[in-house]
Amino acid sequence: AKNAGRNRYSYFTSDMQAAAQQRLRLTRDLQMAVANEQFELHYQPIVNLRTGGIERAEALLRWRHPERGLLAPGDFIGSAEASGVILEIGDWVFRHAADQAKRWQEELGRPFQISVNQSPAQFRGGQQVFEEWGRYVERLQLAPRSIVIEITERLLLDHSGPVVERLGQFKSMGLQVALDDFGTGHSVLAHLKKFDIDYLKIDRSFVMDLAGDSGDLALCEGIIVMAHKLGLKVVAEGVETETQLALLKAAGCDYAQGYVYAHPMPPAELQAQLRGQV
Ligand code: C2E
Ligand code: CA
Ligand code: CA
Ligand code: CA
Repeated sequence: AKNAGRNRYSYFTSDMQAAAQQRLRLTRDLQMAVANEQFELHYQPIVNLRTGGIERAEALLRWRHPERGLLAPGDFIGSAEASGVILEIGDWVFRHAADQAKRWQEELGRPFQISVNQSPAQFRGGQQVFEEWGRYVERLQLAPRSIVIEITERLLLDHSGPVVERLGQFKSMGLQVALDDFGTGHSVLAHLKKFDIDYLKIDRSFVMDLAGDSGDLALCEGIIVMAHKLGLKVVAEGVETETQLALLKAAGCDYAQGYVYAHPMPPAELQAQLRGQV
């Protein structure tokens, strides 16, 4: 029995060791990925429901892993956050998205916005990075409102000074702010008044059963009315069907994003679509 116990124990530790080794390896790979430019941004159009035009696109991170192929954030964002590499990645994402916005605006000869996702870790850091971003945007001669920063409700639950200050900093830089995954956090309604937000993004979980669930429809309608009264525009996320689209339009939703229009795609593909649209 003693032996079996020891065996179990050693299995346990070797499992833990393996897991720890895997995490270490992923962290090291992520660091190399930053250095070796293995990241890409794919873009998903956000469509104005009144005009049908693509006014904006959300930048979604992809990792072109040398062995594992193209990875979505679900495969690595957790590790990037836990290891802190997310700060470097976030910096790369912002600059890359700003460059792309500039290129598209020049190409199209009209305003075009890009939304970038922000990890909460970025907000807890110092203000220095954001100041650098401000200078970067200035040097590019890019109108700051070309960049929309997407933050989640979870971030607003953290009332600490830095979060409030960082948000204020973004706004004073002239960037726009979208509240992502709206409806999934707790009691965030009160914060809408307190924070200066431009867009609400209704989470996909409310859009999914829009046609079958009258409760979800009522919620979406309510969110849209409330958001408009507060002066916010509404984006519906994860719209997959024409029926959902029609219901959202009827409810007065401003923008929609989802597979019904397009999956996230490499910039060259979106560029071809944008060119065709002008
Ligand atoms: P999110 O910000 O909520 O992004 C929307 C996700 O929904 C994307 O997944 C997109 O591909 C997917 N999606 C879009 N339309 C549809 C649809 O019609 N149906 C369904 N089922 N899904 C749809 P993706 O690209 O895998 O990204 C997952 C999450 O990873 C994002 O969720 C965001 O939280 C995070 N993320 C993405 N890029 C970045 C980044 O650059 N930095 C950080 N910190 N997080 C990122
Ligand atoms: Ca987002
Ligand atoms: Ca979202
Ligand atoms: Ca979501």
